[in-house]
Amino acid sequence: MEDRKRLEIIEYGNKILEEHLTFGSGGNLSLRYDENMLITPSGVPYEELQKLEIVYMNYEGEVIIGKLKPSSEYMIHSKIYQKRKDINAIIHTHSKYINVLGAIGEDLKAVHYLIASSGDSIVKVAPYETYGTKELAKRALEYLENRKAVILANHGLVACGENLEEALQISRDLEFCAFVYVKALAVGKVNIIPDEKIKEVVEKFKTHGQI
Ligand SMILES: [Zn+2]
Repeated sequence: MEDRKRLEIIEYGNKILEEHLTFGSGGNLSLRYDENMLITPSGVPYEELQKLEIVYMNYEGEVIIGKLKPSSEYMIHSKIYQKRKDINAIIHTHSKYINVLGAIGEDLKAVHYLIASSGDSIVKVAPYETYGTKELAKRALEYLENRKAVILANHGLVACGENLEEALQISRDLEFCAFVYVKALAVGKVNIIPDEKIKEVVEKFKTHGQI
């Protein structure tokens, strides 16, 4: 079980790289496991990751199994797992259009119905804090609220799911929505889908999945 989860983290790490949702060794991924979590180590390129390099650690920051240092953002992951029992997988990326919104401090709005994969009609930008700090982890959790994603100002996206597939899908969908929003803002005209219409889509995704 633990082996399979380690391999899954490596597989999805390579996917976020191949899909250009991040670059270099930027970003990190984790899975809830027992009362603890499995998380990518700090600074190892996804293409070179070996399963025993995935760090098994507790929410207090102590490594249980692993020789490498965990991702510097482990506190974001541990805070979310402690607070949100609906979340079992987290993917953090430095995707481009999300970062444009983060740089101008603009919450992602419902310019396309795929925003519903976040569970809401808005994805908020958490104020900037230095990477790897508990202040950043606190802000991320605060602005995540009851959604499945949060934009970190001047940094990237944190997407959460029941599993890594859902977290990846949210990362993809929100990067696409951010692309549309940035382009629409550049044109100077944006039509936002009303909240109640997005709520309908959120319900549809729950029962039918995406079409
Ligand atoms: Zn980052």
